Amino acid sequence: MTRTKYIFVTGGVLSSLGKGIAAASIGNIMESYGFTVTIIKLDPYLNVDPGTMSPFQHGEVYVTDDGAETDLDLGHYERFTSTITTQKSNWTAGRIYDNVIQKERRGDYLGKTVQVIPHVTDEIKAAIQEMEGKIDIILVEVGGTVGDIEGLPFLEAIRQIGLDLEPEDALYVHLTLVPYIKTAGELKTKPTQHSVKALLEIGIQPDILLCRAGMPLPEDIKKKVALFTNLKYEDIVSARDVDNIYEIPLIFKKEGLGNLILKKLKLEKKKDNNETWEDWVERTRHLEDEVEISIVGKYIKLYDSYKSLFEALYHGGVENNLKVKLNLVESDDLLKWNLDETFKNSGGILVPGGFGVRGIEGKIKAVEYARVNKIPYFGICLGMQTASIEYLRNVVGIKDAHSAEFTKSPKKKVFLKLKELINVEEMGHNMRLGEFSCILKKNTLSHKIYQKDKIFERHRHRYEFNPEFESILEENGMTISGKNPERDLVEMIELQDHPWFIGCQFHPEFKSRPLQPHPLFVSFIKAARGSF
Ligand code: GLN
Repeated sequence: MTRTKYIFVTGGVLSSLGKGIAAASIGNIMESYGFTVTIIKLDPYLNVDPGTMSPFQHGEVYVTDDGAETDLDLGHYERFTSTITTQKSNWTAGRIYDNVIQKERRGDYLGKTVQVIPHVTDEIKAAIQEMEGKIDIILVEVGGTVGDIEGLPFLEAIRQIGLDLEPEDALYVHLTLVPYIKTAGELKTKPTQHSVKALLEIGIQPDILLCRAGMPLPEDIKKKVALFTNLKYEDIVSARDVDNIYEIPLIFKKEGLGNLILKKLKLEKKKDNNETWEDWVERTRHLEDEVEISIVGKYIKLYDSYKSLFEALYHGGVENNLKVKLNLVESDDLLKWNLDETFKNSGGILVPGGFGVRGIEGKIKAVEYARVNKIPYFGICLGMQTASIEYLRNVVGIKDAHSAEFTKSPKKKVFLKLKELINVEEMGHNMRLGEFSCILKKNTLSHKIYQKDKIFERHRHRYEFNPEFESILEENGMTISGKNPERDLVEMIELQDHPWFIGCQFHPEFKSRPLQPHPLFVSFIKAARGSF
């Protein structure tokens, strides 16, 4: 049995300081020392999962292999470490309370009054400690900011875990902001002091402070922060702003964070090797050429809505030694704009996933433009659906081709709900979620790109290709290049008479990693560069 160590990451002052990336970077550092790591995100909001929230509210919903709809920070965990996240990697207050209430209804609490302490906190502790003894390090990121009412049960639970353990088995890392006030010409430590005070009030003395600032913290500021937060000078680590998030583990290590964690957890590193990561980051510094990709989406104004997509494009770019410049196009606008003008510098056009009818006709126009002008086209999930609809409408001549998601009228429905197709409502919220297999057809572009007969990709969608239209599509020049063998569902489409035109029903972006860029993105970027 392994003696598991815990690292808790909390945040103060304000949100969006990059707590997820900080936690992921700590995971990356600990893996480079040879330890096994898992990361858990605790989210204080009351939704059972973020699946029902608008991307405007929450950003991207990250999907795991086992079909959990989770917080986008899990994407960072998977991209920065070798962790494969699961249902058990993201706990919201809603899910914790749901469990507690179900237990109460079953009578599991034997006539007791059910209370936040101990019942809710015990449920949180059990979720965190599930992997104890099986892994070297459990990293826990507590969402929200210290001082939020909703976060209290989570902070209480992590306080109790620390209390139950030897001091060297639990570490509290607190991320704060040290703002620079222009008029005073000074970095200000007061918000950090207050934030630590708020933590101390609930019984948590942080062991390490990670201080976000626009510049490295000068010695006198570090000394001041240390003095007012009951810490030593060396426990204050500067987390300066950087352009490339993938550099953060390396910068943290340089700032001494790795050794500090080892010292506090009384751990001896088994190795110290981040070479491949370092080499990769080094490559990102020398990307000379650039390729522009147009992304036609509905939530395009909010960068977080397509987090994994942008990261996957970045990874694919680095693999081709190219910077990827994003041309973000609001799909509704395309109906009014001149397309030649909009896409004039773009080597490729991508329509990503999405829900709801708004923006659909703009996306269909973008597909048509890419198809007719032979510009590399990559359609992901909804982007594959719009590509099929466009082809049936404009090439095959079925003018009323549509998806059941967007029309109630008896048009030709090319996409139907799974339950209408196979007459069962078997997927949880009737979505197809998580990893499914796909058999690739030989002698297709898709097969050539993957170099595999069978692939596994993650899904998050409600509608499926209607098999009635398969032969019509194929007879008219579109190739169905991938199918799910269990249910015979169309997973990938492509055009032969085109430099690069692929649609996939799944979301490949969830599986792209810096050191293992996703082959579809690598190939798409290459084609986009070639065509320009
Ligand atoms: N709205 C479509 C569906 O539910 C596509 C979903 C997506 O792009 N993730 O099938």
